[in-house]
Amino acid sequence: MTTQAHAIFNIALLSRQGKPYRHRYALIGAVLPDLPMFIFFAVEAFIRRTPQHELWNTRYFIQEWQNFFDFSNSIPLIFILLGVAYYHLNSEKITVLAWSMLIHCSFDFFLHNDDAHHHFFPLSDFAFQSPISYWDAAHYGHIVARIEVLATLAVSFYLFRRLQTRASLWVLVGVNLFSVAGYSVFALT
Ligand SMILES: [Zn+2]
Repeated sequence: MTTQAHAIFNIALLSRQGKPYRHRYALIGAVLPDLPMFIFFAVEAFIRRTPQHELWNTRYFIQEWQNFFDFSNSIPLIFILLGVAYYHLNSEKITVLAWSMLIHCSFDFFLHNDDAHHHFFPLSDFAFQSPISYWDAAHYGHIVARIEVLATLAVSFYLFRRLQTRASLWVLVGVNLFSVAGYSVFALT
């Protein structure tokens, strides 16, 4: 799933009445698993100046980068974080963050094909290659992307009533415009 869809879905799922601070931790947890990918893109595209096709077809798959991606998408490592947050720290905020990371990885489990993460890193190399992908046209990516952008809009309508500050409402509108624009570019190219 795209990072913005993860963010909106997870905030909606983890939102509780009268606890607006949960939104912030759900957001951080939703973005964290994708953070290494943004770092990868920044390093390869802007520092090493790798051409786009080489970046996604070769560099993305080298061991060092894969380990870096797998680290933040590792279900056992997130479970450790969840356990520490809940039992040791007694922190609702970090627990929400860890849950949000887990929800992110659960969605990704079913929506990645040959770019699937090693879900149980560093314990095993197993990667579930789902028959459907959130982007790859060879695996229903064009249909999944359309459903994803529509679901993001629908969930945003629900979330709209939950957000309390004007700034967060504008961010929600902005993220949806970005998501629709991103989908339009994806669908037309
Ligand atoms: Zn992801």
